[in-house]
Amino acid sequence: MTIEALISRLERVKCTGHGRYIARCPAHDDHGPSLSIRELDDGRILLHCFADCDVQSVLSAVNLKFIDLFPAREMASGKSQHRPFPAADILQAIAFEALVVVTTTRTILKREPLNNTDRERLLLAVSRIQAALDIGGLNHE
Ligand SMILES: [Zn+2]
Repeated sequence: MTIEALISRLERVKCTGHGRYIARCPAHDDHGPSLSIRELDDGRILLHCFADCDVQSVLSAVNLKFIDLFPAREMASGKSQHRPFPAADILQAIAFEALVVVTTTRTILKREPLNNTDRERLLLAVSRIQAALDIGGLNHE
C-alpha cells in the first residue's frame, strides 16, 4: 500500500519531511504524536512508535498486516529478481525481513497465537532471506 493510504487511517498526522510523517500511535493511549512513519525509496514503509509499541500492534490497531508495508508491485511474481541488486539493497531488505522475524518472535514469546497471515509473512521473510543469499551468490548447491 502507499504511505498516503496508511496515514489516512491515522490521527493527528503531520508531515515532517519528504516521505516522513508523525502521527498519533493507534496502539497505545498516545498524547503526543509518538508514531513515526517513513517511506523508503523503493516504496516500503517503516513504522516506529517512540513509546515502544511493536509494529504488529500498530498495524493491527488500524486493521493492517505486515504485507501492507510493501508496495503492491513487489508482490507481483518477483520479476525484479532478474536485474542485479546492489549489496546495500540486499542488506536493507534482509534488515527489514529480520524485523518481521523479531516481531513475530515477540508474539510467540508472549504466547499469543499467530494467525495465518502472520505465519505466512514469517515464511515469506525466511524465503526472502534465502532469496537474498541466492542473489548475492552465497547459496552454493
Ligand atoms: Zn505506541
